[in-house]
Amino acid sequence: MERKIREQLSEYGKKLVEKGLVAGPGGNISAREGEHVFLSPSGFFLDEIEEKDWVKVDINTGKVFGDLRPTCETSMHLGIYLEREEIKAVIHTHPPITVGLISAGVKFKPVFPDYVALLGREVPVIEYVVPAGEAIRKAVVGKIKKYDTVLLKNHGVVCAGETLREAFVRSWLVEETAKTIFVGKVAGNLKCLNLREIEDVENLEAEDYRKTLLKQNSDKDK
Ligand SMILES: [Zn+2]
Repeated sequence: MERKIREQLSEYGKKLVEKGLVAGPGGNISAREGEHVFLSPSGFFLDEIEEKDWVKVDINTGKVFGDLRPTCETSMHLGIYLEREEIKAVIHTHPPITVGLISAGVKFKPVFPDYVALLGREVPVIEYVVPAGEAIRKAVVGKIKKYDTVLLKNHGVVCAGETLREAFVRSWLVEETAKTIFVGKVAGNLKCLNLREIEDVENLEAEDYRKTLLKQNSDKDK
């Protein structure tokens, strides 16, 4: 329902700012319903967007409804939805520790079980491309085919999810990973999970349960 989607977007916009994952007018988020996408308006702080402000755009034609201009990354968001039918939410953030680490060439690796359960074994990194246009759309969509989370050097992170909650948790967990890796490297000899430990997490029934629960919780909100 359109009203519920607008409500949830405003709610998650606030959460992203609370978690320090965006600053000022940075970052942009969206959610899909049927043939339409609701996007953050250009130039707004994510925690100041009212329900009426989310910009409705036709996913196939790009037609914009209303008076506000959608985010300058609209093309990237639409590209992701067109590429993967099951994706219902896209969150793009500028988390400072993640961006610092990946831009310094530090590789993200599974450092705790939640990484494996919610981000996957591997999270791809793409080289810097100019924001707000076809270059970033092409680079991100190319990776989103196979991954739900993409790290962008000198820029930020894009997370896709079957619900807003799922995309949000991924965005949050990426920055928690960065903090953990940073602290581990400062402290000394950081050990990440080895292949067997990764496979053990993948085989845990408890993890399946958690993934299912994550989806159910947000579906219940709809
Ligand atoms: Zn950005």
